[in-house]
Amino acid sequence: MATQTINTIDIGDIAVNVVRKNIKNVHLSVCPPTGNVRISAPMRMNLDTIRVFAISKLDWIKKHQQKIRSQVRETPREFLDRESHYLWGKRYLLDLVELDTLPSLELCHDRLILQVHPDTEVVKKQEIVNEFYRQQIVAAIPPLIDKWERLMGVSVTSFSVRKMKTKWGSCTPSLGTIRFNLELAKKPAECLEYVVVHELVHLLEPSHNSRFVAFMDSFLPQWRFYQAELNRLPIH
Ligand SMILES: [Zn+2]
Repeated sequence: MATQTINTIDIGDIAVNVVRKNIKNVHLSVCPPTGNVRISAPMRMNLDTIRVFAISKLDWIKKHQQKIRSQVRETPREFLDRESHYLWGKRYLLDLVELDTLPSLELCHDRLILQVHPDTEVVKKQEIVNEFYRQQIVAAIPPLIDKWERLMGVSVTSFSVRKMKTKWGSCTPSLGTIRFNLELAKKPAECLEYVVVHELVHLLEPSHNSRFVAFMDSFLPQWRFYQAELNRLPIH
């Protein structure tokens, strides 16, 4: 017999991980650094009861998520020379080159060479880097979608890449459209593939129920590892 069962229930836009095991009382926690919500409950308690419990604690959950997320926010980049920047999980040091030519961004070994006019503002530098990240993701996604469309027998209408505050990706199953978080360009490429698989599974099963988890387990057995990797640092 299983010693514990794991489910995810959605309360509005909050995904709650539910672990049922051999314990006597329900325990609710909001975990740093991401504010993930976890409920431990006795094995015999059914999911509907747990859902009602979670809804009754919604204000408390939101308050704690806000508190945790404001504490661990990633420090903003300033685009100074030798500052660390990430692409596909690899760290690059910024080489800031100030020249009166067209702005450009180039990778060279472990360097990210950002060439801008002298006195370029931080927001403008951020825009150049964001556009670079966007191009990186836009190039990486189509082969992944092709691969997983064939393996799953689903079809994606279109995808977009944008800044998102709380999610790595989202899917509108009725339209077959998928959105990806720009920040994925900083994470290991396997994490992007995990998000592609997750969003495509929504074309088979819209909610995060046990059927969804079963699809994830069969398509990408190691998906929990990538999910944990993505959740290690909050989306800023
Ligand atoms: Zn989802």
